[in-house]
Amino acid sequence: MTRSVLVTGGNRGIGLAIARSFADAGDKVAITHRTGEAPASLFGVRCDVTDTASVERAFEEVAAHQGPVEVLVSNAGITRDGLLLAMPDGDFLDVVGTNLMGAVRVAKRAALSMVRARWGRIILIGSATGLMGGAGITNYAASKAALAGFARSLAWELGPRGITVNVVCPGLIDTDMVADVEPKRRQWVLDTTALRRPGTPEEVAHVVRFLAADAAGFVTGALIPVSGGFGMGN
Ligand code: NDP
Repeated sequence: MTRSVLVTGGNRGIGLAIARSFADAGDKVAITHRTGEAPASLFGVRCDVTDTASVERAFEEVAAHQGPVEVLVSNAGITRDGLLLAMPDGDFLDVVGTNLMGAVRVAKRAALSMVRARWGRIILIGSATGLMGGAGITNYAASKAALAGFARSLAWELGPRGITVNVVCPGLIDTDMVADVEPKRRQWVLDTTALRRPGTPEEVAHVVRFLAADAAGFVTGALIPVSGGFGMGN
């Protein structure tokens, strides 16, 4: 069945792979882009997930173009790594404001029409690293770990309306986000990844697509690692 899908931060990296994967499957796909232009062949709306009015406008544009959002993929995220003792409060707040509050904003807005339709899929992109923790990522880990509590609580609230809420937790995926990770840290992550390699954005996209399918209708409140075994058991 063709669905109206929205992927935040779908102009590059993991979000773009997710958007393309839905589009290739025949779904109606919109992406948000904060900067630049939308990739050719995808319907793009400008949106900054830290701004409620911007989120509202984006959802209205998407609804006018392809109908209310039925599958939301909250993917937009940032890092501002640094040791806590040297971290300006602003860097902590920016990361929580984007990764956690951005997800909260778009999930809340998407749920409005999903509740009316009595069907919906909310998929949040978390992080395996977020659940493990690590030096230099107190802000990022806090923002991503919080998605678990948020998703599990929202799953309770929306479950009776046929809406599932899940978190996909990628391990190391080669995108712009990790291009500047110190070589030593990158090697440590690879050494502690059972498959000893980074994943691809497409491998994350496959799992997201699975969660969006009717066949995954009994999966909710789950944290699903796509991490090659990095951080398994968390
Ligand atoms: P990228 O840095 O390649 O892309 C990040 C995306 O988020 C961009 O589209 C960016 O838009 C968008 N974005 C950032 N801030 C905002 C904002 N305020 N409003 C709207 N959009 C915003 O990262 P990845 O593709 O690697 O990451 C995607 C998700 O996957 C993130 O949530 C990340 O935390 C998570 N993740 C990534 C891992 C990895 O190893 N790469 C591992 C685990 C999780 P713009 O182009 O305008 O900057």
